[in-house]
Amino acid sequence: MNQLLPIFIKVEKADCLVIGGGMIALQKIEQLLDCKAKIHVVAPKIDSKIEKLSVNINKKSYSIDDLSKVRLVIAATNDVKVNKTIYKDCMQKGIPVNIVDQPELCTFYMGSVYKDGDLKIAISTNGKCPSFSVYIKNFIKNISKDMWGRSLEELAVKREEIVNTLNTYVDKKNALKKIINKKFSDASLAENTEGKIFLIGAGPGDPELITAKGLKIIKKADVILYDALIHPHLVFAVNPVAKKIFVGKRDSKHAVSQNTINQIMIDKANEGKIVIRLKGGDPLMFGRGGEEMDALVKAKIKFEIVPGVTSGIAAAAAFGIPLTHRIEAENTIFLTGHQCNKTDKQDWKIFANTKSTLVIYMGVRLIDEIVENLLENGKSKNTPVAIIQNATLSNQNIITSNLENICNQIIEPKKLTPAIIIIGEVVKNYKKIENILDSIPSDIVNLGDSINFDIWKNPKIIA
Ligand code: SAH
Repeated sequence: MNQLLPIFIKVEKADCLVIGGGMIALQKIEQLLDCKAKIHVVAPKIDSKIEKLSVNINKKSYSIDDLSKVRLVIAATNDVKVNKTIYKDCMQKGIPVNIVDQPELCTFYMGSVYKDGDLKIAISTNGKCPSFSVYIKNFIKNISKDMWGRSLEELAVKREEIVNTLNTYVDKKNALKKIINKKFSDASLAENTEGKIFLIGAGPGDPELITAKGLKIIKKADVILYDALIHPHLVFAVNPVAKKIFVGKRDSKHAVSQNTINQIMIDKANEGKIVIRLKGGDPLMFGRGGEEMDALVKAKIKFEIVPGVTSGIAAAAAFGIPLTHRIEAENTIFLTGHQCNKTDKQDWKIFANTKSTLVIYMGVRLIDEIVENLLENGKSKNTPVAIIQNATLSNQNIITSNLENICNQIIEPKKLTPAIIIIGEVVKNYKKIENILDSIPSDIVNLGDSINFDIWKNPKIIA
């Protein structure tokens, strides 16, 4: 149970004792110095960095006499017995005490602190997971953009005016509330009572491949409707407070029908919300973005499209394949495997043009038919082929072959998805640069072992 009482104590000029002379003691001393406390340091060995600070140094072992006149004690020794004695002595004398990393020997904790001018936000996890409070601190830093301290200064001036001019407490409170709301609502988004929908491309996988504009809008969203192929960082970490709705496809079934997706977006926007439809890659590349746009137009809802890096382009970039190489490709055609069935009336003659690069989405399951159609229509059996899985993620992989042999190299197509197939002479470039190319996905691609996620398949994340 969380029974901590959060208080901010004034320690200016107050005698505070730090027992210990190492790096952890130094950290605590710096925090106390920041609050202008009068600091006494007791320890047989004291780091030279501490000696340089404006503190009273006492090179000796701790004794109960050190507690006389002291208002607060922090102990950072690694001697369990000494720690226990300090705690007992402080309890006896009624002095607040914190023994670092021993919650059972603390009468107070020092939380993670976000500070900006006179603004100070202290975060406690009740000793459960201090690293989480560091994450929250950084999150506050991110959303405040280190502007709140300055805003506080301006508000303090306005408050004084209000306090001196208005009479009743309620009037003063309301006037201040109005000023604060006005100052912090974003003119372009939050004050838009009509609501708005953004179709945003999340990029191919690596969350750093989203556009700066897309990221900015996610931070301000009220509702995020997301697909299965979106990295959890973009859905959950960038804006923890927005409502998240999973509307993706699993095992070829849509969890939510297209009509329902459209309706949710429209309803939320009508409530005045900033709604994001976060789609993998680019929102208009094989992603039903067109159908969603039609529905929004019909409902007369304002919307905006923020493009994204489509997986076909990203897959080529990840393995250094220049899709439109001047000498090897006359054009590049983006296709979806869904249209590659033998029964579909595709113009395979155009696709089989020797100098066309084909970039095929959702195609691995139909690779046999694709190869057959191309060979039948005159594409050379030596044409290079690459299958690129999980492009821009840490498990990205490439299989290279040619039209004659590629089908023999694929045993379980389902295991390769999501994947892009690239067919054309340009694939050969990969072999030339294979040993030099060093594409490394960003650090946030892996969210850490504890989460143990496979972003495409982990139901914990996707559900
Ligand atoms: N709008 C998306 C495509 C949606 S269709 C875009 O612009 O990328 C989904 C298909 O995209 C998948 O079946 C797969 O063929 C491809 N795909 C998506 N992410 C991928 C990735 N990281 N690596 C390889 N292929 C990917």
